[in-house]
Amino acid sequence: MELKLSPLALPGIDEEQRPVVIAGPCSAETEEQLIDTARQLASYGVRIFRAGIWKPRTKPGGFEGIGEEGLPWLKRVHDELGMLTATEVATPHHVEVALAAGVDILWVGARTMANPFAVQELADAMKGIDVPVFCKNPVNPDLELRIGGLERINQAGITRLAVIHRGFSTYEKRLYRNLPMWHVPIELRRRIHGLPIYCDPSHMGGRRELIAPLSQQAMDLGFDGLMIEAHCNPDCAWSDAKQQVTPDVLDFILDKLVIRNSAQTTATLESLRKQIDNVDNQLLEHLADRMRISREIGAYKKEHNMTVVQTRRYGEILSKRGAQGVLRGMSNDFVKSIFEAIHEESVRQQVEIMNKD
Ligand code: PEP
Ligand code: MN
Repeated sequence: MELKLSPLALPGIDEEQRPVVIAGPCSAETEEQLIDTARQLASYGVRIFRAGIWKPRTKPGGFEGIGEEGLPWLKRVHDELGMLTATEVATPHHVEVALAAGVDILWVGARTMANPFAVQELADAMKGIDVPVFCKNPVNPDLELRIGGLERINQAGITRLAVIHRGFSTYEKRLYRNLPMWHVPIELRRRIHGLPIYCDPSHMGGRRELIAPLSQQAMDLGFDGLMIEAHCNPDCAWSDAKQQVTPDVLDFILDKLVIRNSAQTTATLESLRKQIDNVDNQLLEHLADRMRISREIGAYKKEHNMTVVQTRRYGEILSKRGAQGVLRGMSNDFVKSIFEAIHEESVRQQVEIMNKD
């Protein structure tokens, strides 16, 4: 199904000027925190203010959002500072009261986007309403599910649609809170033309130091905008404290971004190079995993007085991998030499374990 899109047409925003910035705290906490943060952001030229009124938390018992009480605070931000306001909606009731309170932009969170029942209910609640809706990627990297969610909302008549790429959850926590997997939004853009793509480096990185490099990567990939969490006192934030920055740090980060407006051919090359970077990162993660397992084997061998190198197993690995490589269009010698190098490092790491007392 083709999406029927129309320009986002955010009032007062020049969307050609990349990046369009949406900034504000993870959560609305108090009226003072909200107004103070918004005022500072506005003084740096931020025109779109975000704040979570209802918060999807992993565990019960945490701060689950201030709720409806916070909506008039957002209205103040709109009326007094002239900013557009945005909040996350997860139920039809949220949609109804947010719109009644004059919220300008709705976004659907990553957890909700993973649930077609919930997305359909939201879509039904949005029927006949002309409001810009930003959809985060679902927590799992399922492009069809993501497109399906966009279709549900679009079928309800929402044509001012945009997506926010915030990365994907993983079992093992690594450098990123949510893996970027940049090739997924690149493919989404190839499949759906004219869909504005924003990046949320705050939830992707999970740490404030990662906001700048991830924002730069998003800009290099031609993303249209950024949604970044900013708080007047980040360390004391009631949610996502580690990934929020003060408005002046945000301004510094935005100021340092290099925005390249490359021609189409360069953009294609750039996106292919990013895919290479992405695959290389995955290779490194896999290699690190393999070494971790190797070290566990080393510990086992040590405990059972076995030798580090078990020649038969090594010979088997080399010939099997060589043949697998040939089936995938690579030369036997190339694949063997890679596995020789990997084996050498595995042995080195196992010997290290053996020699540790
Ligand atoms: C958020 O933006 O505060 C949020 C909860 O994000 P996500 O849905 O991407 O986890
Ligand atoms: Mn958050």
